[in-house]
Amino acid sequence: MKKTIFSIFIITVTIFGISAAPKKTIERPKLVVGIVVDQMRWDYLYRYYDKYEKGGFKRLLKTGFSCENTMLNYIPSVTAIGHSTIFTGTVPAIHGIAGNNWIDTDTGKSIYCTDDSTVNTVGSTSTAGKMSPRRLLATTITDELRLATNFQSKVIGISLKDRASILPAGHNPTGAFWLDDATGKFITSTYYMENLPEWVTRFNDSKPVDKLLANGWNPILPITEYDNSTADDSPWEGLLSGSTKPVSPYDVKKAYELNHGSLRQMPFGNSLTLQFAQAAVDGYKLGQKSSTDFLTINCASTDYAGHLFGPNAIEVEDVYLRLDRDLATFFAYLDKVVGKGKYLVFLTADHGAAHAEGFMEAHKMPTGFFGMNLQQNIENVLNKQFNTTNLILGIDNYQVFFNKHRIDSLRLDFSAIKAETVKTLLTQPGIQYAADQDNLPDTAVPMVIREMMVNGYNRLRSGSVVFLPLPGWLPDYSKKGTTHSVWNPYDTHIPLLFMGWNIPHGSTG
Ligand SMILES: [Zn+2]
Repeated sequence: MKKTIFSIFIITVTIFGISAAPKKTIERPKLVVGIVVDQMRWDYLYRYYDKYEKGGFKRLLKTGFSCENTMLNYIPSVTAIGHSTIFTGTVPAIHGIAGNNWIDTDTGKSIYCTDDSTVNTVGSTSTAGKMSPRRLLATTITDELRLATNFQSKVIGISLKDRASILPAGHNPTGAFWLDDATGKFITSTYYMENLPEWVTRFNDSKPVDKLLANGWNPILPITEYDNSTADDSPWEGLLSGSTKPVSPYDVKKAYELNHGSLRQMPFGNSLTLQFAQAAVDGYKLGQKSSTDFLTINCASTDYAGHLFGPNAIEVEDVYLRLDRDLATFFAYLDKVVGKGKYLVFLTADHGAAHAEGFMEAHKMPTGFFGMNLQQNIENVLNKQFNTTNLILGIDNYQVFFNKHRIDSLRLDFSAIKAETVKTLLTQPGIQYAADQDNLPDTAVPMVIREMMVNGYNRLRSGSVVFLPLPGWLPDYSKKGTTHSVWNPYDTHIPLLFMGWNIPHGSTG
């Protein structure tokens, strides 16, 4: 029997020849596009659903797969950690990005996650390009794609924010680009290349910012239709540069002249990002060669607008409605040049955001401000108790960073200092829990939150005492608008959608 089969094989090969045998290739997507919508709460998928058009968020929801209960599994819930976690698949304890900033316990100085003094800006004379991913300790999915294809896959990172472009693109991408406010142009660093690609220069030279600001910022729908937001002039909304009231229409050219960074707070920051992403697809011919390429995009204006106006502002609703339309345009472009079903998109967020304190107060919800003189209050206790000064380097990421060199040289009991700090924190208004990070298993904090603390604690880059505010409470620097950082679902429940290549329609329960 065996022999017969063998003979048939020989005959077949002889007749048709090896080349005639069906060529087995593994099917792969031509392009993977990872979109991170900065500060997008999960509920925004449905809050504005009726006003979304069919090609953007609705296309993701109606044809893709939605993981409805996606929760961050670490704190602090901030941009750099969110992006590092999405793309490495691990947490700050392992990937090392323990905050946007943290305090270096050796030098006592604040460190920005992607700062790199050894590299230079490419594309402008500002210092905004002195950045690299060298503090990211783990590989990203984009790194792994490059490794798996012997670096034939192209990987590109794009964002207005340096960190949200650099961290997703990993250690060895084809390129990573972000916006230089000083010039309104996309730049990169010598970590990646010595000169901007020609298509980037062409894009920058076409003055896209001027074109986007030409028609001002009026609500895209009649103002009466923004019934998912509060009145247009609420006292807890912050002000766009140059304006005296948080009310449309805004004089966007004046705002931009006064402060180039204000572009980030307008919907046009997202439009610019997606236009640049489209130029990257064209410039690098992404998804148009044999190997799978990967494009990471962060839409950051949702975060800047959210911080400034708060989640319930008409401005924020308008930013989402316009992003929806920009996404539709971008997907339609990918359909055209890469092909419908040939590319795979995922869309998620790095974190959510709390409601504004004033909004919560006005509606009798639990809220308040914490953090008033927090460092001073702890220092007063420690100085008295341990009969010395300067034991604390600072507070960041809702963590207390200690002067370990001084504590060692004075031969003080570090555990006792941490215990005293925890005790003091628990007496402060708005603080619900505080814990010694080196002793989290023994801390009386609900298990799920304790696990988020452990995942978020990097022993070299996190403060040694962590604290949690009461639900709905914001740090005292967020008097207008909002912020994020905590474990609560408003900061950690995020969208996660897949669409395109081999993705069935559906959702988790
Ligand atoms: Zn933010």
